[in-house]
Amino acid sequence: MKVKQHSDKVSRVWPLFTNIDVDYGEGVHIYDQSGREFIDCTSGIGVTNTGHCHPRVVKAVKEQTEKLLHGQTTILYNSMLDRLTNDLQKIIPEKLNCFFFSNSGSEAVEGAIKLARHATRKPNIICFQGGYHGRSIGALSLTTAKSVYRSGYQPLMSGVFVSPHPYFRQYREEDVEERTRHCLAELEYLLHTQTSPDETAAMIIEPILGEGGYVMPPESFINGIRDICNKNNILLIFDEIQTGFGRTGEYFAFTHFNIVPDILVIAKGIASGLPLSGIAANKEIMDKWIPGSHGGTYGPNPISMAAAIETINVLEDEELVNNAKEMGDFLLAELQALKKEYPIIVDVRGKGLMIGCEFVDDNGNPGTVIAEKVRQNCLTRGLILLTCGPYNQVIRWIPPLTIKKTELEKALTIFTLAIKDSLG
Ligand code: PMP
Repeated sequence: MKVKQHSDKVSRVWPLFTNIDVDYGEGVHIYDQSGREFIDCTSGIGVTNTGHCHPRVVKAVKEQTEKLLHGQTTILYNSMLDRLTNDLQKIIPEKLNCFFFSNSGSEAVEGAIKLARHATRKPNIICFQGGYHGRSIGALSLTTAKSVYRSGYQPLMSGVFVSPHPYFRQYREEDVEERTRHCLAELEYLLHTQTSPDETAAMIIEPILGEGGYVMPPESFINGIRDICNKNNILLIFDEIQTGFGRTGEYFAFTHFNIVPDILVIAKGIASGLPLSGIAANKEIMDKWIPGSHGGTYGPNPISMAAAIETINVLEDEELVNNAKEMGDFLLAELQALKKEYPIIVDVRGKGLMIGCEFVDDNGNPGTVIAEKVRQNCLTRGLILLTCGPYNQVIRWIPPLTIKKTELEKALTIFTLAIKDSLG
């Protein structure tokens, strides 16, 4: 197959992971210029939760483009902004009753840490190993999923402290609850030895690690962090950029842990592909931001708002969160059955339609090479998947939440054949 590449005028900082010369997307499928169909189990990195070009979202976007393309938030009152926050409040607890919007995930993370610093008048932030929070300098300084993201950019933002996460290959043999207790003890020790509670504004965590390997930590870990934050008057920020909007079989992953963060960061699935991100916090915290102390030209763009409003309607009307749970349970069980058959699969885990399938090599080391081979063989057979994890040893399944059982069955058949091809 001929590999199509962008010209030299396009920065090579974007590696191209597929050879698909895209024409259009529809539902769970991508079509290339020759009309070839691919099943998209990436959702453009967890964005197109309602499927590609959902007709209702497209209609809302089209209608909005005829009316207003840009209406700066500090210049014009726009009733859409009130509508959007009201709609979001239906799926976000009342404790988080005030919103700020921006365009990308990284920008929203920047906003969250700026708000935490501003509201508490404290300088430091604690993040967790394996986390991914974005590419801008502030968000990058909280990102420890892989050193390639950080290399060449040091020194990053100061006042950041990294605490351990219970997911690490070298610790996998240990009892996970015991490891969790160690991690929480290390977190408390960090507060005792390096950044005292009266200097620590917030802790930020992805409740389920995304780029870091699709890892659901033990409930006791997330609950332990919540307790430590409460005890020490530290804000808890959840980065739900990848886990939000139904991805894990709940609107937000915090539901799995029965807790609510102090600041919630959202993006990706919110607007089905249009750029929109935001943070939600209690009004008392949000009001510490005095007018003018944060902002931006574009956020929230009216077309993105129209897309978001309709996205939330579609998620609700088509019961996509429930579908994510049901299809996720099916996919998880099927992949777990494959694990029994193929020893190169060392772990299958996930919630809803956020499932990681981790590979090892013959020596028990991270299966970077085999995972890449499987991914490529899937692509040749018409299935788009991505890898993640510190060694790119995990294949992640993150299809649109609209996916049907028959489509997943087809994808699973391709995946199984791709594994066989890779071993042969
Ligand atoms: N946080 C998480 C959890 C993410 O998954 C991502 C994107 N992969 C980001 C932050 C950064 O978002 P963006 O690429 O839109 O800046």
